[in-house]
Amino acid sequence: MKVLVIGSGGREHAIAWKISQNSDVEKIYCAPGNGGTFFENKCHNINLTRIDDLLNFARKENIDLTVVGPEAPLVEGIVDVFKKEGLRIFGPSKRAAQLEGSKIFSKNFMKKYNVKTAAYEVFEEEASAVEYLKECEYPIVIKADGLAAGKGVAICNSFEEAQGVISDFMIQDIFKGAGKRIVIEEYLDGVEASILSVTDGKTIIPFISAKDHKTIFEGNQGPNTGGMGVIAPNPYCTEEVYKDFQENIMIPTLKGIQEEKMDFTGIIFFGIMITKKGVYLLEYNVRMGDPETEALLPLMKSDLTQIIINACDNRLNEIQIEWFQGYSCCVIASSKGYPGKYKTGFEITGIEKTKGKVFIAGAAAESNRLTTSGGRVLAVTYVAEELNDAVKGAYEDLNNINFEGIYYRKDIGRL
Ligand code: ATP
Repeated sequence: MKVLVIGSGGREHAIAWKISQNSDVEKIYCAPGNGGTFFENKCHNINLTRIDDLLNFARKENIDLTVVGPEAPLVEGIVDVFKKEGLRIFGPSKRAAQLEGSKIFSKNFMKKYNVKTAAYEVFEEEASAVEYLKECEYPIVIKADGLAAGKGVAICNSFEEAQGVISDFMIQDIFKGAGKRIVIEEYLDGVEASILSVTDGKTIIPFISAKDHKTIFEGNQGPNTGGMGVIAPNPYCTEEVYKDFQENIMIPTLKGIQEEKMDFTGIIFFGIMITKKGVYLLEYNVRMGDPETEALLPLMKSDLTQIIINACDNRLNEIQIEWFQGYSCCVIASSKGYPGKYKTGFEITGIEKTKGKVFIAGAAAESNRLTTSGGRVLAVTYVAEELNDAVKGAYEDLNNINFEGIYYRKDIGRL
């Protein structure tokens, strides 16, 4: 079987690594891949990113399965294009990808299908948004409608601050169109969790929960990043929370997908807030999280390739997903300066001394060496029976790895 994996991050390295464990898989093409997939078993990097080039490649090479990592090609409609040609692809249709691509679309969907979420209002004009802000209680949350690379959400503590954000989003247009329409929503106080799930549109199977660490500095300080580390399962996701999530969020979501006749084969990532008033949905993502994927896949006992094929063939009801006992801790090592400006091109050493699994994100392969090429450079994942041992193992591995300007948070998994 030949597989095509689209994307270039640590997530895609983890997906390719897990897919490679299926003995029917002969070759995995990673488009464009990275330094990690370059060295990974069965993997070959190909320098293609445009949808029409990927389609031509999949046809020419008789690719049996395509797996899409990032949201951008999904929102652009890659799944519709591949399916029209009869190609097997894992991901939601363009319309279903709006659940991530448009916050207004997703909030309206949540409301229509009674998915528990924060109260909200939609605004298309600055004047009416400012008028509304005058009556609000603070803090309040303002969200740009479209994709804004994780920067489109502002928590505002005062009217003045909120007014400034609205001007940046709607008038200064800092997100080039993505903030022209906004959502203003109720602030929820609680702890966050990520729960990924897989669906074929008929059946939905949740994964074990995960806990992301979004800020660059320890103790949840500093600007948000793509994610600096993850532990799984999330210790705050008790059985009660999980039940609340399934009843009030997951099942109503599947019902909505069915009633709207959305073509959804793929991953639904639920970003939830666990509050004193129960579990609320913050957002949907329509693909695997990064770095949640790097933390979850080493804990997955089942064959990911088989899960994906069953989902694509509408036979997800025939399988169960099994997990190893214990915990996983994933810590991201980044370039000095990230999420702001940073330098690249530094050699990475010491990976061969690690005991856990290293997934490469922003690093390239150059004449048998790995050199940094991005902000988040690599993820180290360690699995152990106890959370403390998983955390300890990940940090011992990181002690062996080096590159100029290496930075990582020291408090991942310390609750
Ligand atoms: P991502 O980078 O994960 O795609 P995003 O830009 O799509 O994020 P959200 O996940 O909706 O946006 O929000 C980003 C973060 O803002 C959340 O992880 C959460 O910490 C915070 N947040 C969002 N909505 C609320 C809310 N209603 N109350 C409190 N905090 C919130």
